Amino acid sequence: MPSLQVVLDEITSNMASEVDRGQPADFIPELSQIDPGQFGIAVALPSGEVVESGDARIPFSIQSISKVITLAIGLGRLGDGLWARVGREPSGLAFNSILQLEQEGACPRNPFVNAGAIVVTDAVLARNEPREFLAEILQFLRTTSGHNDIFINEDVAKSEANNAHRNWALAHMLKSRSNLFNEPARVLGAYFHQCAIEMTCAQLASAGRFLINANGTGLISQDNVRHINALMMTCGHYDGSGEFAYRVGLPGKSGVGGGILALAPGRAAIAIWSPGLNKQGNSALGTMAAEQLARRMGWSVFL
Ligand code: GLU
Repeated sequence: MPSLQVVLDEITSNMASEVDRGQPADFIPELSQIDPGQFGIAVALPSGEVVESGDARIPFSIQSISKVITLAIGLGRLGDGLWARVGREPSGLAFNSILQLEQEGACPRNPFVNAGAIVVTDAVLARNEPREFLAEILQFLRTTSGHNDIFINEDVAKSEANNAHRNWALAHMLKSRSNLFNEPARVLGAYFHQCAIEMTCAQLASAGRFLINANGTGLISQDNVRHINALMMTCGHYDGSGEFAYRVGLPGKSGVGGGILALAPGRAAIAIWSPGLNKQGNSALGTMAAEQLARRMGWSVFL
């Protein structure tokens, strides 16, 4: 088998010649400015070694990948009690859809669609100050990645706050159905800032090792690792989750900044970034690259 470095370099060069690169997210103006020509990939191994290629050291907006961290903290703190407020089923709808909240009631389908993530943020925020909540998430990422230079991009958070009309609608709907403790503005302020955390692929892959049970931080239990992996596989790419499972065969979580965190359980945590999105809001090249990597390394969980 060729070395992992050779495989990553080949994938990076394949991606450089791809013409169908998708479009950066346009509903967060700050993100729409980002050059879609960029591509980075990093793989963290159980040993702690990180192998990388391309733009793996350029920080990008992790956006919804942050939902994995709030879920890990929420499950650790509230245990199964969290499931009284959010479900565990794929939605089959866009990440920011409002439809099921209207049709099915107060409990969003899963913690990764925006409605569900807003509920999880509300549960973790509880009665704390938003700055304490954000400090906890940053600390979690700094501890798991071993990198202290992980920050929030205020301009991205503001840019989203001023334009996220659907998230405001979702939060008000959740409040009207008594599934938000905090006021919408307080929860969304925290949520927009968690989404605006910036990390490089190398940092994100290192941080992701807690989800393949490899960094020994003891931050979350084995059961929660298994449960989060299951949710990433079934819901991590919104209405593209089936397609990602089919093509890549790994649990993964995407963000509209163009990042993907994918996990080869027990073997590798993978971070890929390319800002152009496909029509489900997932990184177009990121998905292709994950597919090529899983195939070349034989890492699909489905053999
Ligand atoms: N901040 C984005 C939103 O709430 C996150 C969506 C995503 O990354 O999928 O719309």
